[in-house]
Amino acid sequence: MVEEAARRDLAAIAITDHDVVGGIAEAQQAGQRFGVEVVPGIELTAEWDGRLAHILGYFIDPAHPELVVGLERAREQMAAHVRDVLDAARALGVEIDEAALARYRGRYVSGATLVLGMLEQGILRGSPHARQLLLRASREPRPFSAAEAIALIHAAGGVASLAHPVKLRRSEPLLPARTFAPLVAAGLDGIEAWQIVQGPTVRDHYRRVAEALGLVATGGSDCHGPRSVGMRLGTQRVPAAVLSAMKQCWRDRRRALPDRTGSPR
Ligand SMILES: [Zn+2]
Repeated sequence: MVEEAARRDLAAIAITDHDVVGGIAEAQQAGQRFGVEVVPGIELTAEWDGRLAHILGYFIDPAHPELVVGLERAREQMAAHVRDVLDAARALGVEIDEAALARYRGRYVSGATLVLGMLEQGILRGSPHARQLLLRASREPRPFSAAEAIALIHAAGGVASLAHPVKLRRSEPLLPARTFAPLVAAGLDGIEAWQIVQGPTVRDHYRRVAEALGLVATGGSDCHGPRSVGMRLGTQRVPAAVLSAMKQCWRDRRRALPDRTGSPR
């Protein structure tokens, strides 16, 4: 990914895998080799207001013990979910090739992997249980509340930003600033404005929302690697000033915590 970022002329990228930090060290090493700044990050699967919310963490310490323990819990929940779905499928006479699932997601098998696997393996074609099993697989566990996710990111020294707000309520793509007050109270630092799924109208709306709430407007392509829906890396350019603003936010947060040292590159 980092090599590809260099090829696409990107000055910086963030690695924000879902609930996993296993790729950060490798990416940072590659970043030095290819001259791309790599921001260590995470995207936590959380629940807010009864809905799925993804909370991005930037400049995190991936080895922070509290984060490590939280992510371990998240992985256990996901593994249990995958086992439940496979058991349910088996009980319905549908056999899913588990060994093949790993190829859809490099680092861990999730509900999304199952959905992809079931569709690609064609197992559910014509099965009366298709809908039921796909729905069950897609209902992934949400290991953190949004407030917990923000607190965990802060504990690991990071800056917390709400990912793709347009996805929160599909029927209401332009949520007003006041909607996010509880997240701001929980310490949210940013809200994603530049996003591949957010067109110019939505992007500009959330830039204004961020400004109104005193948050940083963040951004990214939400690239999920070369395997899914094309290689999106770099398809959503984000101004360099956004990274500077995120770093400033990080420094302000650090200043509020005098026991911590260090700075983002
Ligand atoms: Zn997301």
